[in-house]
Amino acid sequence: MSNSNKCEACSVSVHLTQEEIDKLFGKMARVRDIKTVSEDEYKKRINICMNCESLLYNTTCRHCGCIVQIKAKLQNSACPYPYKPKW
Ligand code: SF4
Repeated sequence: MSNSNKCEACSVSVHLTQEEIDKLFGKMARVRDIKTVSEDEYKKRINICMNCESLLYNTTCRHCGCIVQIKAKLQNSACPYPYKPKW
């Protein structure tokens, strides 16, 4: 894998700030009826992601390409870790 800060597929920056992630989530929430987990469940999930060897750039899951700060909030979401999901 390259050490570049750019996405290898589209050359957009792969680094997102929490503010950018919050904006993305806000846009998603406005266009869909999104069910989210409790704050405690979110903290549990995000803590697991932050300590996972599959996390890239502190934001992106290597297995699904999802922004974990968003993925972990979604009720109908599951960790895609191969053979043994972590949450
Ligand atoms: S594999 Fe699971 S725990 Fe690891 S970063 Fe992806 S969603 Fe998070």
